[in-house]
Amino acid sequence: MSQDLDLQSIIQKVTDASLQLSGADFGILFYDLPARSIQREHLFALSTNSSDVQDHLEDITGFQTLITDQVIRLTTRQELTKYNSKIFGDGNAARSEGWIVQSFMSVPITSKSGETIGCLMLGHGQEGIFTKEAEEMVLGVVSQATVALDNAMLFEKLVSANEEKERLLEKATEQNFRKDEFLSIASHELKTPVTSMKGYLQILEKQVSKEGNGGYLPLIQKANKQVNKVIHLVNDLLNLSKLEAGKLQYNFSDFKISEVLADCIANIKNAEYKHNIRVFGDQNSVIRGDRNRIEQVIINLIDNAIKYSPDATEVLIGLSEDRGYFKLEVRDFGPGIPEEKLQLIFERYYRGEENSYKTSGLGLGLYISGEIIKRHQGRMGVESEQGKGSTFWFVIPLDQDPE
Ligand code: ADP
Repeated sequence: MSQDLDLQSIIQKVTDASLQLSGADFGILFYDLPARSIQREHLFALSTNSSDVQDHLEDITGFQTLITDQVIRLTTRQELTKYNSKIFGDGNAARSEGWIVQSFMSVPITSKSGETIGCLMLGHGQEGIFTKEAEEMVLGVVSQATVALDNAMLFEKLVSANEEKERLLEKATEQNFRKDEFLSIASHELKTPVTSMKGYLQILEKQVSKEGNGGYLPLIQKANKQVNKVIHLVNDLLNLSKLEAGKLQYNFSDFKISEVLADCIANIKNAEYKHNIRVFGDQNSVIRGDRNRIEQVIINLIDNAIKYSPDATEVLIGLSEDRGYFKLEVRDFGPGIPEEKLQLIFERYYRGEENSYKTSGLGLGLYISGEIIKRHQGRMGVESEQGKGSTFWFVIPLDQDPE
């Protein structure tokens, strides 16, 4: 990988420079010790002043056992053998055919956080080569290189974190796709039986009220109400999957908003609501849009206003025009919405936790409404004061190009 090459070229340069400064026969640098010992081999660089020496170093990786977090400087054969007889004693890795390491220096590479992340080792075939000055020069090179190595390492970590992020994102997208597909199939499959159930219940309701078996009528009406709720949920799901697939169709036409509003109020599913819905403002506005979709948005807002203000008795609807825009507001006198939730409620699947067990819903209504209004080149929003109620609104341009 290219970031490995960056690290590799830095450690090679450090090893080469140290070799030259100290006059060593060979230099070996091991790098990225903690991370690579688990997953892969250490990065390492080797530098020698002649190909002969390289041939003599039989097993470079054997030097890994000499990695230390102390500076070591050994200048006699005796010291070396005492320090590590396995590596430096007779018949060892660093000895071969007349050439033998007789001077040795090892400098740890320490990260900013104080962790030993590498080790530079220098060796020579004669005694007394590495002076105190040479040690200081090498320490200087290493400390300067540490900054560059830290940066290169950080970059590598960032790249792999990014790769991990991308992998997770891909997985989440795939899971989302499956979920959307499931929702689309499930809602399609549910729609037909539920709609015919509603049809049968309506026939039954008519029949029972005609024949006068009053005892069953309230039960049938209750069943009808529950079926309406299911239809509402299924419709939300269907709309969502169409929206996500870009298949929500729009048929634009000019229509009088007061007529749509009258239909909405008549259609509000919750037939038992006790709220008085009052309409204010300019009833003559004619807007261009998809009549059914705008109706869907208004029903959603009125429905929520009723649903989320069970102790109130009024819902107010305001209509107005301003600077080429039509505005509709739905005001309720419910508990209101906490400020930190005001943005969240327009998100897909978001439901206020305080409502989730009291009211039915999937947290899709406002999301779908918002998307419909966007498609009309408009905006949707809410103002709310806790304890006083909420006002949901949307604006759309009066004269818009449907495309
Ligand atoms: P649902 O009603 O299915 O939960 P919505 O998208 O219509 O989905 O609404 C999302 C959330 O916004 C609701 O769960 C509720 O917490 C909050 N909300 C919507 N309208 C109102 C309202 N008029 N008053 C208080 N909270 C509301």
